[in-house]
Amino acid sequence: DIAVIGSNMVDLISYITRMPEEGETIEAPDFALGCGGKGANQAVAASRLGSEVLMVTRVGDDLFAANTVRNFELNGIDTTFVLPTPGTSGVAPIFVDEQSRNSIIIVKGANGALSPDDVEAAAAEIARCSLIVLQLEIPLATVNAAIELGSRAGVPVLLNPAPATEGLDYERVALCEYFVPNETELAILTGLPTSTLEEVSIAARSLVERGCRNGIVTLGSKGVLLVDAEGEELIAQTTAVEAVDTTGAGDAFIGCFAHEITHATPLRDALVRANAYAAHSVTGRGTQSSYATADEFSAWVEG
Ligand code: ADP
Repeated sequence: DIAVIGSNMVDLISYITRMPEEGETIEAPDFALGCGGKGANQAVAASRLGSEVLMVTRVGDDLFAANTVRNFELNGIDTTFVLPTPGTSGVAPIFVDEQSRNSIIIVKGANGALSPDDVEAAAAEIARCSLIVLQLEIPLATVNAAIELGSRAGVPVLLNPAPATEGLDYERVALCEYFVPNETELAILTGLPTSTLEEVSIAARSLVERGCRNGIVTLGSKGVLLVDAEGEELIAQTTAVEAVDTTGAGDAFIGCFAHEITHATPLRDALVRANAYAAHSVTGRGTQSSYATADEFSAWVEG
């Protein structure tokens, strides 16, 4: 089983022809409501592929909470630790224009209340899992508590340092089995340039030198670069696809990687599978709506 300790958001997407001026009201031709948040996205991808997923997260006491819980249930995710919180759920008003450019506002809401005590409350269930998956859309103290629980209980931890947050503690990062930034996050975290593959490799190495076991850097259409604890480096290419919408590709990658790694797939093969799964997700519109089930994914890979 996989324990995802992280965020959930409701995406409120307005499709606009232009941004309104200050004080102006305009009409938008379309609107969509979607379930998102990095934690929830990764949980949904892993669950659709067939993993048992325990979600530890907080929702508000508003209309969105029921929708989020229902989405988890529809995706077969264990909601025992989807905890109610007074106030608003995490929401993301998003504006997408006719050129597919987006402007996003994140209101973290209940995600900001997910606490180290919540991790403790779920400790027995989390300790029974074979992987803990974390991102940075919840308080850093909670992420740290989850990393410590993982080391205490002997459960490997995957940390996706997204969005890049100041103050990540390298001693705790060293406790993570898998550290999975994208190029931008890697640059912000290490303070090093990451515009060329060579620079990415140097920055990823600097993480491993600081004790991180497997540094896995996602490179968009270029796939992924791994530097493992022995300093061995590997680049896994992704599948060439016609990209329609790359939103949530990183989360698809992590959900699939977590699924593979907990089903005894060797690390390098897991990277190849996760690349293919994420590549498939960019061929469809939306975030979770573009995540394939195990059957859909096999059909796509074979077709
Ligand atoms: P993020 O979504 O966090 O910005 P990336 O852009 O690095 O992350 O994408 C994550 C993964 O999604 C990549 O490692 C790759 O496997 C896949 N991916 C992203 N964009 C494309 C693309 N245009 N074509 C094929 N695969 C892609």
